[in-house]
Amino acid sequence: MEGRRSIPTWLAEAPAEEVLAWADAEFGARAAIASSFGVEDVVLIDLASRHAPRAGVFTLDTGRLPPETYEVMEEVRRRYGIAIETFVPERAAVEQLEREKGFFSFRRSVEERKECCAIRKLEPLSRALSGKSAWITGLRREQSITRAEVEPAEIDEAHGGIVKLNPLARWTEAEVWRYARAQELPLNALHARGYPSIGCAPCTRAVAPGEDVRAGRWWWEQPEHKECGLHVRGGR
Ligand code: SF4
Repeated sequence: MEGRRSIPTWLAEAPAEEVLAWADAEFGARAAIASSFGVEDVVLIDLASRHAPRAGVFTLDTGRLPPETYEVMEEVRRRYGIAIETFVPERAAVEQLEREKGFFSFRRSVEERKECCAIRKLEPLSRALSGKSAWITGLRREQSITRAEVEPAEIDEAHGGIVKLNPLARWTEAEVWRYARAQELPLNALHARGYPSIGCAPCTRAVAPGEDVRAGRWWWEQPEHKECGLHVRGGR
């Protein structure tokens, strides 16, 4: 990773297209789009195909993703003619976790859930960001209380002070869906089955109408715990 950077203040109010164009001019292929292939991420990839075409796309293939996510990954790969770089967990760490704690240890406590996320997501993410100067995500403020303060451009202290861009930070859910439908984007089939937010299969379920969009993620936990540690702000 490169050293600490500063970010221009105008990015805080800039439209997504301008945030991406700035990333392209500033970082080119040293920026990477992190995607878990929910609707926001596909919107982001579509926008980036025009405004930040040199940024690669990566995903964390945890080994527990639903088949619908692989389907949309393949559709995106074909539609945009891009290689999707997958980062899988360290084999030995997963083998040890499953041997010692079984296959659903994440349901037993927040600590054990975070242990699984650390092995299957955080360690692969640190490899994905190695050598990058910036990463780009589809985070939105509206998604949850843990994301309410997300800025379009941040310095990511948790990953060596590289730049983290969240071009959709100020988008509403309605704006995301309007864009996705207008562009006829490939979408994860689980969205139509009541899953607004999609992660690993055993840790994601459908939500009832009117429920928080991330209510189906780790539904057995309190809302303030519902992050996997990928998106840490201000040392929290
Ligand atoms: S979301 Fe669930 S299965 Fe996926 S890494 Fe985290 S605890 Fe493990």
